[in-house]
Amino acid sequence: MTDPTAYEMVRPARVRRTLEEAPIVFLPIGCVEYHGPHLPLGVDMLTADAMCHRTAELTGGLVLPPLWLAAGVLPLPHSITVDATVLRAAVRPILRQLAEGGFKTIIVFSGHGALDHLHALREETDRVMDRFPGVNALTTVWNELNAGMPGDIHDHGAKVETSYIMEFHPETVDLTALEDDPEAEHVGVYAANPRFTASRERGAAMADHAVRRLAGIIEGFAAGERADSWVMLRELVDRLQSGDLEVVADSGFAEGGSLRFDLHNPHGQSKYITAVRSLTIDGAEVDLTGAALSNPSVGEGHTDTGVDRLGPLSGFYVRRGQTMTLEAPRAGAAPGFHDVEAVFTLADVMEIAGRGGLQVRGAALSGHHS
Ligand SMILES: [Zn+2]
Repeated sequence: MTDPTAYEMVRPARVRRTLEEAPIVFLPIGCVEYHGPHLPLGVDMLTADAMCHRTAELTGGLVLPPLWLAAGVLPLPHSITVDATVLRAAVRPILRQLAEGGFKTIIVFSGHGALDHLHALREETDRVMDRFPGVNALTTVWNELNAGMPGDIHDHGAKVETSYIMEFHPETVDLTALEDDPEAEHVGVYAANPRFTASRERGAAMADHAVRRLAGIIEGFAAGERADSWVMLRELVDRLQSGDLEVVADSGFAEGGSLRFDLHNPHGQSKYITAVRSLTIDGAEVDLTGAALSNPSVGEGHTDTGVDRLGPLSGFYVRRGQTMTLEAPRAGAAPGFHDVEAVFTLADVMEIAGRGGLQVRGAALSGHHS
């Protein structure tokens, strides 16, 4: 019989032996979130839980029951999100008590990839390391563990997440709930129709890669390395989010000095915008006071986000194929043809631009437009 790895299923003697032999503990975190008609709501917690147990089988250690509280959950049907302060209030005392209880390696493994949620968790694992110098605490997520793997490594409810659940809990997946058309789009599925792309083999290969990488990192702690919850984030954002936005050439509108125009994400993955660095019109930088972003797509809930409120805990998503609007009330732009360039920070770690020619219409002289 293999050594049990579920914290809630073992007796105290097993915990004491773990603390002596391999003082490693895993906290899987997920959420309940709509992932399309074909997947269970617990995809993220099921994936995190399964990967933690597979890693613990290699490294030793125990896995806590999955925590289903998460921030940044998409506002889609039947999903439940909590504020990042609630997530922190739950996670902070858990991590502290694990450190006080003698665990030297604490892995917070999120199956939920929202970058605001992960930012809060990374800060909490850093915090417990500051407080307990002998402890390594790492926040990670499956997509960053696989950032060096060829092929698709990240999506929502599509090939990647469907393949994981086909590997971990195949009885819960119903591919026939998806349209029998490779081109069909489904709410909550952010890539090609997984009925035609997902496979258990892919799920097993991705799980194996992620688990081996995490086991290697944990082994590094035993050899004196220190946990760093930010290095893999940079690798992941660079892999997934690089590539500029496109200015929608005929979308410009000027009125009373304000300018608004659209930017489109033509890439296969989301952009998580945490700042608008600059906006230039015909080479001259304009004032961004009062500027705002909107993304009216279903499931986003971003209508009018002031750029001064953006940050790593309050970023703005523009996903695959979506278009957002940038409005700058003090741009001082006049109707006509202009070259525009907007520069955005993604996930607090890299920059992209959106630049191009923009045809700007103006308000009618009466002052109102319809
Ligand atoms: Zn998910």
